[in-house]
Parts: sequence; C-alpha cells; structure tokens
Amino acid sequence: DIPVITIDGPTASGKGTLADVVAHELGYIVLDSGALYRATGLAARRAGVELDEAEAVAAIAAKLDLHFAKGRVWLGDEDITDALREEASGLAASQVAAHAPVRAALNQLQLDFRCLPGLVADGRDMGSMVFPDAPLKVFLTASAATRAERRHKQLISKGIPANIAGLREDLEARDARDKGRTASPLQAAADARRLDNSAQTIEESRDLVLSWWAEARPF
Ligand code: C5P
Repeated sequence: DIPVITIDGPTASGKGTLADVVAHELGYIVLDSGALYRATGLAARRAGVELDEAEAVAAIAAKLDLHFAKGRVWLGDEDITDALREEASGLAASQVAAHAPVRAALNQLQLDFRCLPGLVADGRDMGSMVFPDAPLKVFLTASAATRAERRHKQLISKGIPANIAGLREDLEARDARDKGRTASPLQAAADARRLDNSAQTIEESRDLVLSWWAEARPF
C-alpha cells in the first residue's frame, strides 16, 4: 500500500504550499490536481474547443500530453508553467472541472501519481473521491479575506499588478461554482480533519499535519 495524504480546500487556502512542505519533510511526491484541470482548460482553448462542451473537453483530457519535470509543467513541448498560474486558467479550470466526463477522464491519471515512499495530493476531491482510502485527509480553509490577501501578496511579489477586491470576488465566484456543481462538489470528506489556517504560519500548519500523520499512518 502506498501512503497517501490528501489536502483539499477552497481556492487560495494554501493547499499547494502546505502540500509542498509536508511532502518535503516526508520525502513524498506531490500531486497538484488543479494543474491537471488547468492544463485541460488550456489544451481545450488551444484546440478551439468550447469549455462548455463536456464530451469534447473530456476527449482532450483523456489524451492530455502533460509532463512534470524540474518544477516545470509541459504540454507537449510547450512550457505552460506560467500560463497555468494565471487567474484566467483557474477560471477555465473550474469551468471544465464541472463536467463529470472530464473528471472521469482525469481520474486514472491522478491515481497514477501514487508512488513510494508516498504521495501528498492536493485539490478539491482528493479525499472524497479520488483517494477515498487515504489514511489522512485534511480539509484546509481560511477566510476569504485572508485568501485574497495572500493571493495579492503572491502576485505583487512577482511584479503582477493586482487588486484585492477583484481577487476576492474572483475567488468567491470560483468557490461558489466549485461548491454548487453536481460533479464532485467541493466538500470535506466525512473523515477529514479540518484545519483553518487563517491565523497560522505555514510551519504551524505543517507541524500539525505531520503530527496527525504520525497518528494516522498505517505502519
Ligand atoms: O487548485 P486550483 O486553483 O489550481 O484549481 C483550479 C480549479 O480546478 C478549481 O477551481 C476547481 O474547479 C478545479 N479542481 C477540481 N478538482 C480538483 C482540483 C481542481 O475540480 N481536484
């Protein structure tokens, strides 16, 4: 059995950062499942496929030519790392993620990330749908204000102009879509541990998750 820790939660809750630091401590690899949905949206647009055409987008997802290498993400021979981080990619991702056939097409791809010594998977439905047997499931939240501020700081530090009120509107719209959809709506798995990191440093959140893992790991 390959050990899996899942970290789910809303947009900009800090899942990616927490997944990275936890995986680093344990020597595990990370699955950033949002990147798969983002890449699907990007590949669909490149192919001239409308994002609301579920079956056509699912066909794109099923043959997604995606590679992760040296911290970069490649679609075919194009480095899409920066394009994936754009807000527009997040919005497109949440549109394609609402289609059940797209989610089905990406399911096996996500399972294939499991490898020894272990996996930390971050997303919306890692604990509830994709890795239902994971011994530790974390549901990470933070207030909308905190999340908008963090996203703002991140963008400004990269020299990208941003507006907090606009960012907060975007992330609340994305949360509403992710919670309201019928296919795998964003929700905590029944057996998830809830963690609100609004007032926590990343080290505090990391150490808490590691202490949960020390209790939960099955070996
Ligand atoms: O986490 P990230 O912001 O990269 O995710 C982008 C979008 O992809 C989310 O808003 C969500 O709609 C979708 N997603 C999903 N299931 C996942 C990961 C992401 O539906 N496991």
